[in-house]
Amino acid sequence: MFKKVLVANRGEIALRIIRACKELSIKTVSVHSTADADSLHVRFADESYCIGPAKSSQSYLNIPSIISAAEVSNADAIHPGYGFLAENPDFAEICETCNIKFIGPPSKQIKNFGNKAKAKELMLSLGVPVIQGYTGKCETRKEISLAAKEIGFPILIKAVSGGGGRGMRVARNVEELEKYLKIVRGEAQVSFGSDEVYLEKYIQNPKHIEFQILCDEHGNGIHLGERECSIQRRHQKLLEEAPSPSLDGKLRDKMGELAVKAMKSIGYANAGTVEFLVDEGGDFFFIEVNPRIQVEHPVTEMVTGVDLIKEQIKIAAGEKLAFKQEDIRIQGHSIQCRINAEHPETFVPSPGKITSLNIPGGLGVRVDTGIYGGYNVLPFYDSLIAKLIVFDKDREAALAKLKWALEEFHFGGIQTTIPFHQKVLQHPQFKSGNYNTNFLETYF
Ligand code: ADP
Ligand code: ADP
Ligand code: MG
Repeated sequence: MFKKVLVANRGEIALRIIRACKELSIKTVSVHSTADADSLHVRFADESYCIGPAKSSQSYLNIPSIISAAEVSNADAIHPGYGFLAENPDFAEICETCNIKFIGPPSKQIKNFGNKAKAKELMLSLGVPVIQGYTGKCETRKEISLAAKEIGFPILIKAVSGGGGRGMRVARNVEELEKYLKIVRGEAQVSFGSDEVYLEKYIQNPKHIEFQILCDEHGNGIHLGERECSIQRRHQKLLEEAPSPSLDGKLRDKMGELAVKAMKSIGYANAGTVEFLVDEGGDFFFIEVNPRIQVEHPVTEMVTGVDLIKEQIKIAAGEKLAFKQEDIRIQGHSIQCRINAEHPETFVPSPGKITSLNIPGGLGVRVDTGIYGGYNVLPFYDSLIAKLIVFDKDREAALAKLKWALEEFHFGGIQTTIPFHQKVLQHPQFKSGNYNTNFLETYF
């Protein structure tokens, strides 16, 4: 097992990883920007190194600085968390060549999935259904018309390196397709450093269902059931639950088995998520693989009792998976609300000092956060400041718990998405458990 792990992240996920390391008796090293000097991930780690100024590009994305911190502190592994460098194959490769274990899949796997169009081709070749699309040239009016004819409107334009819900636009006719292709390409170049895009059929009213996978470095792999992530704003998840309230057992087994089989067959190792859309007819289609830990991993932990971060570390240390598929039992129900420092209606970021704070607790109430009373929410980073996760014997009980937990959760000085979550909870369509990715657009 590793003696010392460097956590190349900040906020709640950095704390989550530091805690898992402590339970495994591993020393921890945190890295931080100058702006984050007063953060809990700095306080709770055994050592901490400043790696640059506030701007992510100069600190949390600064590969030479992070590698230097790992070398100076003699860390034998790096956990990247999510976001930042978690899906950067170059970073994983540099770790590999510096003899520092990257806690995640091999760089080759990250590269495989970094291009979403290529990932679709790969999955298709492995027998996983994908959304009908078009990856050919789309420059001239003629080519664009041809693509449109092949797919049929509405068509979704997607950046091959897009992520976090960005780099996507729906076109409903040829004129829009031509216009939006230019826009998405431009935006993608700025945001992701590549203007490559692909087209696919825009599915009406789909559900976002994803499977948590764990594969070790010895060819063993399992899935830990699915997460329902259809409550989204601008294609980014806001609330997640496990299990999905609307997936039937047969479909669950089929999707899960297919996802594991595909990941095992390519020699995937570590934690990963296979994302699908399920259409109104109950057909499912692969959309992408996230080769890292995800923001919503806690709901899976609650219903399976498996600590996914500890599993990631053990897998990276070369251990064999301690369980087989039949050992995984999904019990009870879990829901997570992403609490962002944002205006609850416009979702405009609301950074600033937290003047007062009350965090709920009790049986089945989990809060993953990196903030504290008096903490200053910084404008430089992601607006996610806490995750409220509840667990109970069934969905109804979990919802009842979530209701009071959201009421008790209080932030003074900043605005948060708590009122938004309260509105979602009250909605009959949400209560019914049968909702899709257009929930927000339709009802709010
Ligand atoms: P998840 O995929 O874990 O459900 P998100 O889609 O919200 O959650 O992404 C996780 C985090 O990573 C967020 O902080 C998001 O802003 C960031 N992120 C995801 N993809 C990218 C990307 N391609 N470039 C930059 N940041 C990204
Ligand atoms: P990201 O890398 O940003 O997470 P994804 O490909 O996972 O991008 O898609 C994010 C969300 O965008 C999905 O959960 C879904 O709501 C929507 N989406 C993606 N592809 C389609 C599609 N073909 N039809 C309809 N909605 C889609
Ligand atoms: Mg996705």
